[in-house]
Amino acid sequence: MSALRPSPIAPTVDFERDGVQHGFLRLPYSRDDSAWGSVMIPVCVVRNGKGSTALLTGGNHGDEYEGPLALYELARTLDPRNVSGTVIIVPAMNYPAFRAGTRTSPIDKGNMNRSFPGRPDGTVTEKIADYFQRELLPRADIVFDFHSGGKTLDFVPFCAAHTLPDKAQEKKAFAAVEAFSAPFSMRMTEIDAVGMYDTAAEEMGKVFVTTELGGGGTSRAETVRIARRGILNVLRHAGIVDGAVEKGRTQWLDMPSGDCFAFAEDDGMIETMVDLGEPVENGQVVARIHPVGRTGQAPQEIRARMSGLLAARHFPGLVKAGDCVSVLAVAVQE
Ligand SMILES: [Zn+2]
Repeated sequence: MSALRPSPIAPTVDFERDGVQHGFLRLPYSRDDSAWGSVMIPVCVVRNGKGSTALLTGGNHGDEYEGPLALYELARTLDPRNVSGTVIIVPAMNYPAFRAGTRTSPIDKGNMNRSFPGRPDGTVTEKIADYFQRELLPRADIVFDFHSGGKTLDFVPFCAAHTLPDKAQEKKAFAAVEAFSAPFSMRMTEIDAVGMYDTAAEEMGKVFVTTELGGGGTSRAETVRIARRGILNVLRHAGIVDGAVEKGRTQWLDMPSGDCFAFAEDDGMIETMVDLGEPVENGQVVARIHPVGRTGQAPQEIRARMSGLLAARHFPGLVKAGDCVSVLAVAVQE
């Protein structure tokens, strides 16, 4: 394969300069209302000398708010005198999606978390992915990417990392998850890992940590507090920010197999039979999907295929065939 062309994205910050810089990743985007226009993705760099680099992102999906709420505040308040090394903050990674309040980009329908490694000559979303892949990820020692459920899912608040073939890398990631101190900590399984930012970072050998902190296309006071405390904890744990980790109690969870997930096979109106965090027995009905086209029809029952607790659920009141209805997880006894 021939060498890829350079990224079209021009940063207005210098990643090697000490102090605080608020600027942009400027991505040329010529369009009807702005012939030589650009997408201006906010970026903040806080640097104080040599040391590790943390790359922090929110808004990978545009309708998830705990990450942006934590990271715009961190960018505004982090004092470089308390930093050893570099913190790169991109609070709204898929900025067009974030501005539209949608999971994917309104420009190209790109799902940032299925667009890696991206392309320098691709769509707007692919160009952003390519810039992270080739310019930002290589700078980082630790990569933290905030997620929540967005408009269609709701989660118990957890911090997570993946089971990895490199056990030393996995151990560092789980130690960072533990430091985050969310109410739940997850050993995560993906149903669709190709093209994910997670996978790109992990394949580069980075310590990669993520979250699911609620959802429904909004945020809650509790989940925002968890996000703000947690990200400072991770930076302290990594030795990048001064101070002790504020440990909280966390319950470790595991997603042992694909049996965790349940999907709707019909359209209808969903009735959640179990609330988030509640225990579920194998075979128990976790949700019912009511047909709404006529009266007199029995609901479809969605049964658990394993025992555990309800870690995530479909959020809107209406459901379509193929939607993820529920995710179960197993509490790990320590
Ligand atoms: Zn997400």
